[in-house]
Amino acid sequence: MNDCIFCRIIKGDIPSAKVYEDELCYAFKDINPQAPAHVLVVPKKHAASVLELGEEDKALLGHIQLVIGKLAKELGVSETGFRVMTNCGSDACQSVKHLHYHLLGGVQMSEKMV
Ligand code: AMP
Repeated sequence: MNDCIFCRIIKGDIPSAKVYEDELCYAFKDINPQAPAHVLVVPKKHAASVLELGEEDKALLGHIQLVIGKLAKELGVSETGFRVMTNCGSDACQSVKHLHYHLLGGVQMSEKMV
């Protein structure tokens, strides 16, 4: 989608601090990091959220989970722990309408989820 900032990042039209890329997904450092390690993992296929994905995307979603684990190791947070989250919709304050997973680590986080 031309007007989607993450699609434009994936295409290379907007610069990003890339940490990983393969045929299905792209990962880059969050521009406004909330933790020492804060990476966004996004599918190359445009979907606003998981609500727009279906049975045909099972392999893609599984692949992203495995990439997140690989990146957690590369970022050095797999031993200390990390958090993975995706915001969906207004109550969750989703600001970019392209499915993305926040990978956060490198700091002791709160038990609170909201
Ligand atoms: P969310 O609020 O869950 O939709 O998260 C969107 C995230 O995208 C925020 O953490 C932003 O800091 C991040 N973000 C927005 N624009 C960029 C950009 N150009 N490069 C890297 N991260 C970005």
